[in-house]
Amino acid sequence: LLGMALMSGLVLVACSEGSSGGNGGDGDGEMTVGISMPTQSSERWIADGNNMVSYFEELGYDTELQYAEDVVENQVSQIENMITLGVDALVIAAVDGEALTSVLESANAENIPVISYDRLIMNSEHVDYYATFDNFEVGVLQGQYIIDELDLENEDGPFNIELFAGSPDDNNAHFFFNGAMSVLQPYLDEGKLVVGSGQTDFNQISILRWDGATAQSRMDNLLSSNYGGGEELDAVLAPADLLSIGILASLKSVGYSADDMPIITGQDADIPSVNAIIAGEQAMTIFKDTRVLAEKAVEMTESVLNDEEPEVNDTETYDNNVKVVPSFLETPVVVDVDNYEELLIESEYYSEDQLN
Ligand code: BGC
Repeated sequence: LLGMALMSGLVLVACSEGSSGGNGGDGDGEMTVGISMPTQSSERWIADGNNMVSYFEELGYDTELQYAEDVVENQVSQIENMITLGVDALVIAAVDGEALTSVLESANAENIPVISYDRLIMNSEHVDYYATFDNFEVGVLQGQYIIDELDLENEDGPFNIELFAGSPDDNNAHFFFNGAMSVLQPYLDEGKLVVGSGQTDFNQISILRWDGATAQSRMDNLLSSNYGGGEELDAVLAPADLLSIGILASLKSVGYSADDMPIITGQDADIPSVNAIIAGEQAMTIFKDTRVLAEKAVEMTESVLNDEEPEVNDTETYDNNVKVVPSFLETPVVVDVDNYEELLIESEYYSEDQLN
């Protein structure tokens, strides 16, 4: 029987599939992809992970999905375990983009290709491809929404704004902030927008690990130090829904309500934020369809494993300090109360009963 199978090439095919790339997975002949995600604290990452698992499985891959719960050491050891397990490829969204240099050395020693997912892995030559959204554009859309809502083309203001940025160890946070400032800066220079606290440097306004509670307490401090005398706050640049929800809680605690809430931006279309948009509290969010990104990352991984070149649409922007990583940038879109039904419900991203 073995001889017959060998003659027909079946066993040989199974063996060579199982051992190309990594160390052969779990021996059932299917390739295994390790998927390392940062945290389950925001639904988006849960959706990213689940979507990749189902797309990979449809294509006949096994998967090993792990969440690091925002602890850098967890992520490093989870990836080490995947390497030991013999995965054939790794798809990683880093907790700290600068903390994976040495574990990627180990992956490379086993010839395991690495796809950087959503967040760029920095300081490593062993990042093969990057699947993400246009991160600068995310910031542009957030900034432009504020400009449009305050009608700054026509109004002189001055309007008060406070700025928040994401985690300093996440390359995306810098892109979001720079994108937003590319739009807001001219109005700050003109004096139509004023940052009441004067805090405009990335280092002053960034929130480590995108932590909502930290954003909430920073907002508490901003309000008591700068808006205690009845000064109105008109807008808050918040880079992501995790922060927006903390900022909203802070504003509500000093009496702001849907009637007089500043324009608060966001990102990810997380359910609490979509509900806050429906309630008139958060103004907008950026929808980055995790189904689309997951599909792209799966496609890239499959190409690499088949020794083909994945499709990319950007080979200039994402320099990780060692190399410019060939990237595919998907398109982010604005969601607000006027279009959430079409973009989120009709597209079946959420069902109606998941939202308020
Ligand atoms: C992602 C955002 C997300 C943030 C916090 C960023 O890297 O691009 O979509 O809101 O991390 O999880």
